[in-house]
Amino acid sequence: MNSPTLTDLAKAIPTALSATSVGGLSDEALLLAIREVEELGRHVDALRVVTAGELAARSRTEDGPAGLAARKGCRSANELLQRLTQVSSATAASRLGLAVLTRPGTALSGAAMPAKFDHVRAALEAGELGVDAAVALTRNLAPLQVRVHPDALDAAEQELVAAATGTSPDSSVSASADEIRIQASVWRATLDPDGLEPDEAHAMAKRSFRMGPERNGLVPVSGGLLPEAAGRVKRLFDAYLTPTTAPAFLSDEELADKNAVRDPRTKDQQRHDILIGVPDAMARSGDTPTVGGAAPTVLVTVRAEDLDSGGAGYADGVESPLSPTTVKQLVCSGGTQKVLIGRNGRILKLGSAERCFTAPQRRAITARDGGCLIPGCSIPAGWCEVHHVTPAAEGGLTHPDNGVLLCWFHHRTIDTSGWAIRMRAGSPEVQAPPWLDHTRRWRLATKSRTALAARVSRHGP
Ligand SMILES: [Zn+2]
Repeated sequence: MNSPTLTDLAKAIPTALSATSVGGLSDEALLLAIREVEELGRHVDALRVVTAGELAARSRTEDGPAGLAARKGCRSANELLQRLTQVSSATAASRLGLAVLTRPGTALSGAAMPAKFDHVRAALEAGELGVDAAVALTRNLAPLQVRVHPDALDAAEQELVAAATGTSPDSSVSASADEIRIQASVWRATLDPDGLEPDEAHAMAKRSFRMGPERNGLVPVSGGLLPEAAGRVKRLFDAYLTPTTAPAFLSDEELADKNAVRDPRTKDQQRHDILIGVPDAMARSGDTPTVGGAAPTVLVTVRAEDLDSGGAGYADGVESPLSPTTVKQLVCSGGTQKVLIGRNGRILKLGSAERCFTAPQRRAITARDGGCLIPGCSIPAGWCEVHHVTPAAEGGLTHPDNGVLLCWFHHRTIDTSGWAIRMRAGSPEVQAPPWLDHTRRWRLATKSRTALAARVSRHGP
């Protein structure tokens, strides 16, 4: 009798187990069927890898147009494999990669050479080792080939194959592919501790920070930080996250009946707000590179009639319009410059910068306020915005007597948070929201340590 072809075998499978008969299996029969199907699959997988490897060997790039893939009009063995099998390029690459490591070689003398991972090859061909485990094993050990002694590598391979096939003296239970991946990485780190360096080099190449397209009013951020970078950013956040304690101005008695005074923001929201202060502070430092001669600031355009009545604005480089609240805050801290544009779009008149605190004014305000004026907020002066206490639209001057430091968040929410600020003889005073302080007392506010020291010395020790 002729031996059956692969097609014969494929046709015979439904006679052994058909998809429609699975529902009628007992629990035990189902579990047995799953194991048997997997064993069948392992044999098929091993042949998939071997045939893919042969395809690759006949499609070497050095063979040029004489290569098999080229003759079939494909750029690579991977493409030809995809066209033949309809698998994804990733699956094709996985088979081809495993084939390279498990295909017996030929020496220059013509003698047969064992595969790079000959124990893996043998276990695959015997149908005892699955492709997932084989990939997990070889991916971890392959980089060691040029770095550790072949005997040590061979021992590691043998141990891992035994663990994966349940033939290890330590355990007769086959380890899953995920377990093999972990065990293999331990072997790798043990055999070649210096090899972790290339991992770091890889991470170095992969480091990234990306901002995606805006969706629902938010710009998604993704990427991967090097551990040391993450450490620095984390320290920065930790330094300015507000403690969960009550604002510092309350006395102990006042604190006693405020048992749940907290920053209303989540830690994630606070980290966002901390991040917003960093570019502003950098833009103000003299060392910041300029964009076309100006410090990198955000340019927002808004129609003159919308500016005071509350209309949308448009920021350079941001797709969606900015709300009136955002425009108001940006104008309050960043100033404006009027540009008169004619009906034909021509610039008719360029006004001078208005409502914009100068650097010397800002320095003076910083000396007086020392940081965000809201009690309990720890954002430093360098990251704060200057807020017009009386809005410019209501005749408030751009003068230190009308400008105070607020962090981005407290500036954004100053009209809605319940905190109030007023100027008395050039000194800012704050009033806490009623839920925090029912006496509604105005208190002198400053974070400036010099101002605090002066106050202390006036009162005496
Ligand atoms: Zn603040």
